[in-house]
Amino acid sequence: LERIRPAELILPESTDWERGGIVTRRLADWQFDAATSATLLAKQFGVRDLASFDCADQPLAVAAAGALLQYVQQTQRSALPHLTGLTVERSDHYVRMDAATRRNLEITETVQRAEAPTLFSVLNRCATGMGARLLAHALHHPLTDRAVVRERLAGVAALAPLHRDVHGALRGWPDIERIVTRVALRTARPRDLTGLRDALLAAPQLAALIDQTPALARLSSHFRPDGRIGAGLSAALLDEPATMLRDGGVIRDGFDAELDELRAIQAHAGEFLIALEQCERERTGIANLRVEFNRVHGYFIEVTQGQLDKVPADYRRRQTMKNAERFITPELKAFEDKALSAGERALAREKVLYEALLDRLAPDIPALQAFARAAAELDVLATHAANAAELRLCEPAFVEADRVHIEGGRHLVVASQVENFIPNDCHLDRSRQLLLITGPNMGGKSTYMRQVAQIVLLAHTGSFVPAAAAEIGPIDRIMTRIGASDDLAGGRSTFMVEMTEAAAILNAATPRSLVLIDEIGRGTSTYDGLALAWAIARHLAETTRCHALFATHYLELTQLNAELPNLANVHLDAVEMKDKIVFLHKLEQGPADKSYGLQVAQLAGVPKAVIRRAKKHLEDLLAAAEPPAAQADLFATPPAPPEADPHPALDRLADLKPDELSPREALDALYELKRLMEPKSP
Ligand code: ADP
Repeated sequence: LERIRPAELILPESTDWERGGIVTRRLADWQFDAATSATLLAKQFGVRDLASFDCADQPLAVAAAGALLQYVQQTQRSALPHLTGLTVERSDHYVRMDAATRRNLEITETVQRAEAPTLFSVLNRCATGMGARLLAHALHHPLTDRAVVRERLAGVAALAPLHRDVHGALRGWPDIERIVTRVALRTARPRDLTGLRDALLAAPQLAALIDQTPALARLSSHFRPDGRIGAGLSAALLDEPATMLRDGGVIRDGFDAELDELRAIQAHAGEFLIALEQCERERTGIANLRVEFNRVHGYFIEVTQGQLDKVPADYRRRQTMKNAERFITPELKAFEDKALSAGERALAREKVLYEALLDRLAPDIPALQAFARAAAELDVLATHAANAAELRLCEPAFVEADRVHIEGGRHLVVASQVENFIPNDCHLDRSRQLLLITGPNMGGKSTYMRQVAQIVLLAHTGSFVPAAAAEIGPIDRIMTRIGASDDLAGGRSTFMVEMTEAAAILNAATPRSLVLIDEIGRGTSTYDGLALAWAIARHLAETTRCHALFATHYLELTQLNAELPNLANVHLDAVEMKDKIVFLHKLEQGPADKSYGLQVAQLAGVPKAVIRRAKKHLEDLLAAAEPPAAQADLFATPPAPPEADPHPALDRLADLKPDELSPREALDALYELKRLMEPKSP
């Protein structure tokens, strides 16, 4: 839900599931019936069954899609010709990210829920609204299918010399995607159609720009749309029609004879009235007599107070004003009937013609959707190409080996905000799976970890990445445990939030997951926290064996690398100058030697007296502390248990082949294992 960010959620009546912040509606359970849904969907798509949509094994998804279709049909009360098929999304199509990770990586929203600065706000140079929307979508949907990603990267590379021209051509294009939907729902306004017309007419220019580029061949074919559609719209619509159809002034002169005739009557009204005014002035001798029109009273002849004695007998009083009287004559009345009805009939005629125009567009909707989609894709690729040049990005290389090698990586958002961003490398592979990152607060640990995750994420969306070079192995998921904030609304303390996120990582991460842990165990007592952090780091390196970046304040953890060969210590450097601390933001090998807590506190403005007192207390604490060797005990390898024969249950377990067991056999095996575990009676 965090990924899709739906505007509205529909659920079967019988589910009591709740989620704040999303409008939720409940439909009758029967609307979620898989068989009925399949029939309804097939009917909507004009096919015999759903076989071509590859969803036979997804009855729940089909049921949901069917319920959704019924809901849209009920609420829109119109045909839905733009809904032409189903796309099955499976979770392994994407590099998975949970809600916390999406937030922590500040993809389209900062941690404080602001719109900028985010990855999206820094990258978005799209020329069109639909491009920007697709970019935001792509950033939330990193693909695991490398063939698709490579195709995008090739497109980005090919656009290096062209992106300016492409964006120049696309600038000013309206949101065709939305317009096509409005055409389908018959709510498109005149300016929507002229926007569509202009885009269709401009498309061949765009095609000509990219025609010679093989990497963009798939897209360029969409920019030669059927010329009939644009020509049809041009013939029917004024260059700049009125905003609202009900005001008229939408259909071009010469398009429809009947409309032309009605308009002629109106057009000649002006001449007729001037002539009538002239004629009446002469007939009555009233020099200031005026023939006018208003919406309430229609046409009238106005004569001022002093001239009323000259009014002829055939004038009928229509309205009395303060200083004048208004009259109508039989001749003017006859004209009024004709003119007014011509106006109304012209409006009605325009409406009919407009509806017919929408009818004629209906069969072209799928082609127009593909056209809109191609324009959005090209806009995004050109944006990537522009970013590659302006932000000095490099093309990532995907490799088969399990590794993430980044040289000179940068955090795009932080780099956009500090004067001198220091690039850093990242080397993760099977022999170096967990980087234990130490260094003072403000040293750049979070920035470093997030930049690695963002680079991996960006690469999978088909964008170039902020680094000098990047090699990325297969990644199935990005998981993070970052930041400490109480989830007051959810009723969870900082520590509970921390542990829930840690649990999710420990339970779900695979060797191909990229895991970021920024400080763990802070929300509890020092020793609890330290012990937990130690055990979690150890589990990640030893058992999960994922790619992990693990930042910690517990310098004690740095000793873990003595036991875990795949754990490496790195630190962000700082130097002390005359009691002041200077952050170098450079990642160095090896553990940090101290934490500089007091210096950072001083930097933050903690009063000198307090710092002095803390310093004194720290010295006392260190003096009183046990010798370091004793403290290191916590991390000593536990003494190896005496060699013993493995337990018979373990032997049995090792022999089991779960894939070859029937459910019944599996259950029997479970009972057997349980029995083997029971203490033997003497
Ligand atoms: P930590 O997590 O170690 O407390 P942060 O990652 O939050 O530190 O970084 C603190 C600040 O330092 C950032 O807001 C940024 O201004 C600056 N910073 C971090 N990394 C770099 C870098 N590589 N180059 C320049 N400035 C940096």
